[in-house]
Amino acid sequence: MSTDLISTDVLVIGGGLAGERCAIEAAAAGHDVLILSLVPPRRSHSCAAQGGMQAALGNCVKAEGDNPTVHFLDTVRGSDWGADQEVASIFTQEAPVAVRELAHLGVPWTRVRGGKNSYVIKGQRVEIEEHIENDGLIMHRDFGGTAKWRACYAAAATGHAALYAVDSEVVRLGITVRDRMEAVALIHDGGRCWGAVARCLRTGRHFAVVSKATVIATGGYGRIYGQYTTNATINEGMGAVIALNTGVVPLGNMEAVQFHPTALAPSNILVTEGCRGDGAYLLDKDLHRFMVEAEPEKQELASRDVVSRHMKQRMRDGKGVDTPYGPHLWLDLRHLGEQHLTTKLREVWEICRDFVGLDPAKDLVPVQPTQHYSMGGVRVNKDGQAYNMAGLFAAGEAACWDMHGFNRLGGNSLAETVVAGRIVGRRVAEFVAKSSLDVQTGLAFAATRTAEQRAAEWLGRSGNGPSVYDIRNAMGETMMSKVGIFRTGDELEEAVAEITAMLADCDKAVLRSKVPGMNPELTFALRLKGMLRLALVTARGALLRTESRGAHYRSDYPLRNDAEWLSRTLVRWAVDADEPAFTYEPVGEIDLPPGHRGYGSDERIEMRESLQQYNDGVYERQAEHGRLATAEAPGSRLRRGEWKELV
Ligand SMILES: Cc1cc2nc3c(=O)[nH]c(=O)nc-3n(C[C@H](O)[C@H](O)[C@H](O)COP(=O)(O)OP(=O)(O)OC[C@H]3O[C@@H](n4cnc5c(N)ncnc54)[C@H](O)[C@@H]3O)c2cc1C
Repeated sequence: MSTDLISTDVLVIGGGLAGERCAIEAAAAGHDVLILSLVPPRRSHSCAAQGGMQAALGNCVKAEGDNPTVHFLDTVRGSDWGADQEVASIFTQEAPVAVRELAHLGVPWTRVRGGKNSYVIKGQRVEIEEHIENDGLIMHRDFGGTAKWRACYAAAATGHAALYAVDSEVVRLGITVRDRMEAVALIHDGGRCWGAVARCLRTGRHFAVVSKATVIATGGYGRIYGQYTTNATINEGMGAVIALNTGVVPLGNMEAVQFHPTALAPSNILVTEGCRGDGAYLLDKDLHRFMVEAEPEKQELASRDVVSRHMKQRMRDGKGVDTPYGPHLWLDLRHLGEQHLTTKLREVWEICRDFVGLDPAKDLVPVQPTQHYSMGGVRVNKDGQAYNMAGLFAAGEAACWDMHGFNRLGGNSLAETVVAGRIVGRRVAEFVAKSSLDVQTGLAFAATRTAEQRAAEWLGRSGNGPSVYDIRNAMGETMMSKVGIFRTGDELEEAVAEITAMLADCDKAVLRSKVPGMNPELTFALRLKGMLRLALVTARGALLRTESRGAHYRSDYPLRNDAEWLSRTLVRWAVDADEPAFTYEPVGEIDLPPGHRGYGSDERIEMRESLQQYNDGVYERQAEHGRLATAEAPGSRLRRGEWKELV
């Protein structure tokens, strides 16, 4: 077989918001950039994002007093103290710039309307006079877990508007994009990454892309939960897989999986948190608004992990609406009125009309919590540089940067894509400026040949082995039923055993279609083992973490345990090893001490050591786990103690 090899300064794997924003930064610095994407970039998952993007602009009355420090407090509390606080600090300071920049790129943000405006807040309709001098500024809506209205939005199509604007800039800069291409392996020598092997999804041909720097921006991996996710079918986690397959790059916090309260039942298409932000509420089968008792202060706008647990519990208590597909609850949007629904929540209105035949101005909408977001991912330092592997970077949902810890706040992910894209892109450009492409081509050819052999081996299997789709469906059932919203040691052990058996089955699976070129079954088969590995490290990570933190809730260990678990999980899977290896690093330097989040339970096991003891040598300990040196000194962007006047 012939092997093609192409070279570039920067290879960006992923054409979503994070990948494209990063590519723009590197290209603007004068470097050659190549983007690979499974789909045309505008069909990346970012396009589906609905409700908004958090940035502390403070433009409307309910946002008055907001600033990056308040946003920092919300983000760290939301993360249940699992976040890297320096990264949260960098993010919250830069989000306002990134959002305004999007306006310049053409995002049609919904704007403040000066004068009298009518809103629904905590179930009550209220009139608020927006300042005339703020007329025309970017508007905010309320979102879960925030002290102020902060989410900037373009109706309920925020991701669509942002991705089209950013992609237009990619086109304007003449950045090369090759879509329907899949990165299937990294080219590396165990300590330095030199690009990736790609497979053309139309022809099945493999080729090598050698690069001075490589960025993984492949989004989340919700599809390890099968159909029980709001994620697109392309969100299968191959970026995390190719990093894990190096044997040396760790993934961070894989057990931190977010479940969104309001997916449409039974299809699991998302209905944005912006609905509850704009005043929609949750009802049980008796049309009782249970969140008012469950969370008197934040009600439906507690963080997603908290609301999802209350919903699941409500259904376990027999208060769900029974259907042949299982129980669901109701989202009531009727009081928002048709005018509001067909403008500020237009896409939600269309989704309800087109997918369940309902008019949310008149009908209750059936909802259930489902998998939504991957807080875990390729572990990187504050520059986006992967642990243990020079030349490899990651950004966006694929990365564990880690500003979300164990629970991401709504609206913080879209904002992360563009903030991280800017920062990581700049660091990539600096790295490339100092590098030369002195890679051994033999390394690239060998990696390509290995990938070709894997495909040939799948095509060469015969007999009556299991189908790859049956294994995929079984994986989804196990993940949702045993590694879901409520977790127990017994169920997690079962999940680990079941996924281990599926991994063995994967080696015996046989394809029905033997076409080497455009063959979706082969394409999926090539991903399946990696997806099962992600499922396994998620389940095992959840089994090992014997506490509850954010979205990781252990019914048998219901308290957050800062004495033993104020740490980030790292998992590596050595080449040829049967088992993954888990280690734990400190979450980072702690500025805001662990405390009550302001919603959910305030019972917890306190730290035994002082903050000073925890923080002493924290960066050295992270370096022992593989954190590479950063451009600026570690901790230099923490604005220590700045939050004190606010609490
Ligand atoms: C329905 C929905 C609504 C959401 N709404 C919001 C919201 O309102 N606010 C918010 O903050 N967040 C929201 N989120 C989350 C947010 O949209 C995502 O986290 C974010 O858009 C991810 O962007 P990304 O660039 O990291 O990845 P993506 O947009 O998922 O892009 C990944 C890219 O990688 C490519 N790719 C993947 N694997 C490979 C491979 N092996 N080789 C080559 N290319 C590859 C894909 O083709 C794609 O181009 C929502 C999520 C969902 C599911």
